[in-house]
Amino acid sequence: MTAAAVVQASQSLVREGLTVGTSGNISVREAGEEMVWITPSGVSPENLEASGVVAVDLASGEPRDGRPSSEVGFHLGIYRAREDIGAVVHTHSPWATAVSCARLTIPPFHYMMVGTGDGTLECAPYHPPGSPQLAAATVVALGQRSACLLANHGAVTVGPNLDAAMGMAREVEALAQQFALSRLLGGAVNLESEEVVHLREIFTAYRDGMNRDD
Ligand SMILES: [Zn+2]
Repeated sequence: MTAAAVVQASQSLVREGLTVGTSGNISVREAGEEMVWITPSGVSPENLEASGVVAVDLASGEPRDGRPSSEVGFHLGIYRAREDIGAVVHTHSPWATAVSCARLTIPPFHYMMVGTGDGTLECAPYHPPGSPQLAAATVVALGQRSACLLANHGAVTVGPNLDAAMGMAREVEALAQQFALSRLLGGAVNLESEEVVHLREIFTAYRDGMNRDD
Protein backbone atom coordinates (compact mmCIF):
# COMPACT_ATOMS: atom_id res chain seq x y z
CA MET A 1 0.00 0.00 0.00
CA THR A 2 2.61 2.51 1.15
CA ALA A 3 5.07 1.57 -1.59
CA ALA A 4 2.38 2.03 -4.26
CA ALA A 5 1.56 5.50 -2.87
CA VAL A 6 5.26 6.43 -3.08
CA VAL A 7 5.32 5.38 -6.75
CA GLN A 8 2.20 7.43 -7.53
CA ALA A 9 3.55 10.49 -5.76
CA SER A 10 6.94 10.34 -7.47
CA GLN A 11 5.23 10.07 -10.87
CA SER A 12 3.08 13.09 -9.94
CA LEU A 13 6.24 15.12 -9.23
CA VAL A 14 7.41 14.52 -12.81
CA ARG A 15 3.97 15.11 -14.34
CA GLU A 16 3.62 18.39 -12.48
CA GLY A 17 7.08 19.61 -13.49
CA LEU A 18 8.43 19.51 -9.93
CA THR A 19 11.26 17.08 -10.77
CA VAL A 20 13.18 15.98 -13.84
CA GLY A 21 14.75 12.52 -14.34
CA THR A 22 15.88 10.88 -11.11
CA SER A 23 16.41 14.11 -9.13
CA GLY A 24 13.50 13.91 -6.68
CA ASN A 25 13.03 11.49 -3.84
CA ILE A 26 10.17 10.61 -1.52
CA SER A 27 9.87 8.66 1.71
CA VAL A 28 7.05 7.59 4.02
CA ARG A 29 7.32 6.35 7.61
CA GLU A 30 5.46 3.09 8.12
CA ALA A 31 3.00 3.70 10.95
CA GLY A 32 3.76 1.68 14.07
CA GLU A 33 7.06 0.36 12.69
CA GLU A 34 10.62 1.62 12.91
CA MET A 35 10.79 1.54 9.15
CA VAL A 36 10.73 3.97 6.22
CA TRP A 37 9.81 3.39 2.57
CA ILE A 38 11.99 5.44 0.20
CA THR A 39 12.43 5.78 -3.55
CA PRO A 40 15.45 3.84 -4.87
CA SER A 41 18.66 5.34 -6.21
CA GLY A 42 18.91 6.00 -9.94
CA VAL A 43 15.45 4.86 -11.07
CA SER A 44 13.24 7.30 -13.03
CA PRO A 45 9.70 7.57 -11.61
CA GLU A 46 8.21 6.37 -14.93
CA ASN A 47 10.18 3.11 -14.55
CA LEU A 48 9.50 2.71 -10.84
CA GLU A 49 7.27 -0.07 -9.53
CA ALA A 50 6.04 -0.66 -6.00
CA SER A 51 8.44 -3.60 -5.63
CA GLY A 52 11.33 -1.22 -6.33
CA VAL A 53 10.57 1.07 -3.37
CA VAL A 54 13.20 0.37 -0.69
CA ALA A 55 12.45 -0.42 2.95
CA VAL A 56 15.04 1.07 5.32
CA ASP A 57 15.41 0.41 9.04
CA LEU A 58 14.96 3.77 10.78
CA ALA A 59 17.35 3.14 13.67
CA SER A 60 20.28 1.55 11.81
CA GLY A 61 19.75 3.17 8.40
CA GLU A 62 20.26 -0.26 6.82
CA PRO A 63 18.15 -1.06 3.75
CA ARG A 64 16.23 -4.31 4.06
CA ASP A 65 16.60 -4.75 0.29
CA GLY A 66 17.67 -2.69 -2.73
CA ARG A 67 19.59 0.60 -2.90
CA PRO A 68 17.86 3.62 -1.34
CA SER A 69 18.02 7.18 -2.68
CA SER A 70 21.43 8.81 -2.14
CA GLU A 71 19.64 11.37 0.06
CA VAL A 72 18.41 8.73 2.51
CA GLY A 73 20.53 10.50 5.18
CA PHE A 74 18.38 13.60 5.49
CA HIS A 75 15.15 11.63 5.18
CA LEU A 76 16.14 9.47 8.19
CA GLY A 77 17.55 12.48 10.07
CA ILE A 78 14.21 14.27 9.78
CA TYR A 79 12.20 11.25 11.04
CA ARG A 80 14.59 10.78 13.97
CA ALA A 81 14.33 14.48 14.91
CA ARG A 82 10.57 14.85 14.42
CA GLU A 83 8.04 12.33 15.74
CA ASP A 84 5.26 14.29 13.99
CA ILE A 85 6.62 13.66 10.48
CA GLY A 86 5.12 10.84 8.40
CA ALA A 87 6.46 11.76 4.93
CA VAL A 88 9.34 13.67 3.32
CA VAL A 89 9.42 14.99 -0.28
CA HIS A 90 12.59 16.33 -1.91
CA THR A 91 12.50 18.14 -5.27
CA HIS A 92 14.64 20.29 -7.52
CA SER A 93 11.52 22.21 -8.57
CA PRO A 94 12.60 25.17 -10.74
CA TRP A 95 11.61 28.24 -8.70
CA ALA A 96 12.50 26.81 -5.30
CA THR A 97 15.85 25.71 -6.71
CA ALA A 98 16.47 29.15 -8.24
CA VAL A 99 15.90 30.79 -4.84
CA SER A 100 18.15 28.15 -3.20
CA CYS A 101 20.92 28.97 -5.68
CA ALA A 102 20.70 32.62 -4.60
CA ARG A 103 20.99 31.22 -1.04
CA LEU A 104 18.02 33.27 0.12
CA THR A 105 15.81 32.55 3.11
CA ILE A 106 12.22 33.39 2.14
CA PRO A 107 10.63 35.76 4.69
CA PRO A 108 6.88 36.07 5.44
CA PHE A 109 6.18 38.02 2.24
CA HIS A 110 2.78 36.38 1.53
CA TYR A 111 0.09 35.16 3.91
CA MET A 112 0.39 31.57 2.60
CA MET A 113 3.94 31.48 3.98
CA VAL A 114 2.41 30.71 7.36
CA GLY A 115 1.89 27.18 6.01
CA THR A 116 5.58 26.57 6.81
CA GLY A 117 4.82 27.11 10.50
CA ASP A 118 6.42 30.45 11.38
CA GLY A 119 6.10 32.08 7.95
CA THR A 120 9.70 31.61 6.84
CA LEU A 121 11.59 29.17 4.63
CA GLU A 122 15.19 28.78 5.80
CA CYS A 123 17.89 27.94 3.28
CA ALA A 124 20.37 25.36 4.62
CA PRO A 125 24.04 26.14 3.86
CA TYR A 126 25.62 24.32 0.92
CA HIS A 127 26.99 20.80 1.44
CA PRO A 128 27.58 18.13 -1.22
CA PRO A 129 24.54 16.02 -2.16
CA GLY A 130 24.26 12.78 -0.24
CA SER A 131 26.73 13.92 2.45
CA PRO A 132 26.18 13.51 6.21
CA GLN A 133 26.84 17.27 6.49
CA LEU A 134 23.90 17.98 4.17
CA ALA A 135 21.70 15.65 6.23
CA ALA A 136 22.60 17.46 9.46
CA ALA A 137 22.18 20.96 7.92
CA THR A 138 18.76 19.98 6.51
CA VAL A 139 17.46 18.93 9.93
CA VAL A 140 18.64 22.25 11.42
CA ALA A 141 17.21 24.44 8.61
CA LEU A 142 13.89 22.59 8.79
CA GLY A 143 13.55 22.98 12.56
CA GLN A 144 9.87 22.65 13.44
CA ARG A 145 8.72 23.95 10.03
CA SER A 146 7.13 22.00 7.20
CA ALA A 147 9.72 22.97 4.54
CA CYS A 148 13.22 24.31 3.90
CA LEU A 149 15.53 25.04 0.99
CA LEU A 150 18.99 23.50 0.44
CA ALA A 151 21.54 25.94 -1.00
CA ASN A 152 22.41 25.36 -4.68
CA HIS A 153 20.24 22.26 -4.64
CA GLY A 154 16.45 22.35 -4.12
CA ALA A 155 13.68 22.01 -1.55
CA VAL A 156 12.56 19.60 1.19
CA THR A 157 8.98 19.45 2.43
CA VAL A 158 7.45 17.34 5.19
CA GLY A 159 4.05 16.52 6.62
CA PRO A 160 2.15 14.15 8.87
CA ASN A 161 1.36 12.10 5.76
CA LEU A 162 2.32 11.89 2.06
CA ASP A 163 -0.58 14.06 0.84
CA ALA A 164 0.46 16.87 3.18
CA ALA A 165 4.15 16.70 2.20
CA MET A 166 3.21 16.65 -1.52
CA GLY A 167 0.85 19.59 -1.05
CA MET A 168 3.65 21.50 0.66
CA ALA A 169 6.02 20.75 -2.26
CA ARG A 170 3.52 22.36 -4.64
CA GLU A 171 2.97 25.29 -2.28
CA VAL A 172 6.68 25.94 -1.80
CA GLU A 173 7.23 26.01 -5.56
CA ALA A 174 4.38 28.53 -6.04
CA LEU A 175 5.63 30.71 -3.18
CA ALA A 176 9.23 30.61 -4.44
CA GLN A 177 8.01 31.80 -7.84
CA GLN A 178 5.97 34.62 -6.29
CA PHE A 179 8.92 35.61 -4.09
CA ALA A 180 11.35 35.67 -7.03
CA LEU A 181 8.93 37.70 -9.17
CA SER A 182 8.29 40.22 -6.39
CA ARG A 183 12.04 40.77 -6.14
CA LEU A 184 11.98 41.86 -9.78
CA LEU A 185 9.57 44.62 -8.72
CA GLY A 186 11.98 45.86 -6.06
CA GLY A 187 11.19 43.29 -3.39
CA ALA A 188 8.07 42.37 -1.42
CA VAL A 189 6.86 44.31 1.59
CA ASN A 190 7.01 41.63 4.29
CA LEU A 191 4.22 41.00 6.77
CA GLU A 192 4.75 42.31 10.31
CA SER A 193 5.40 39.70 13.00
CA GLU A 194 2.04 40.42 14.70
CA GLU A 195 0.32 39.80 11.34
CA VAL A 196 2.09 36.42 11.15
CA VAL A 197 0.89 35.56 14.66
CA HIS A 198 -2.68 36.46 13.63
CA LEU A 199 -2.38 34.35 10.47
CA ARG A 200 -1.23 31.37 12.52
CA GLU A 201 -4.41 31.68 14.61
CA ILE A 202 -6.53 31.81 11.44
CA PHE A 203 -4.72 28.79 9.94
CA THR A 204 -5.03 26.78 13.16
CA ALA A 205 -8.77 27.53 13.40
CA TYR A 206 -9.22 26.59 9.73
CA ARG A 207 -7.31 23.32 10.14
CA ASP A 208 -9.21 22.39 13.31
CA GLY A 209 -12.47 23.11 11.44
CA MET A 210 -11.37 20.81 8.60
CA ASN A 211 -10.54 18.04 11.04
CA ARG A 212 -13.92 18.14 12.81
CA ASP A 213 -16.17 15.19 12.09
CA ASP A 214 -19.49 17.03 12.49
ZN1 LIG B 1 18.50 16.58 -4.63
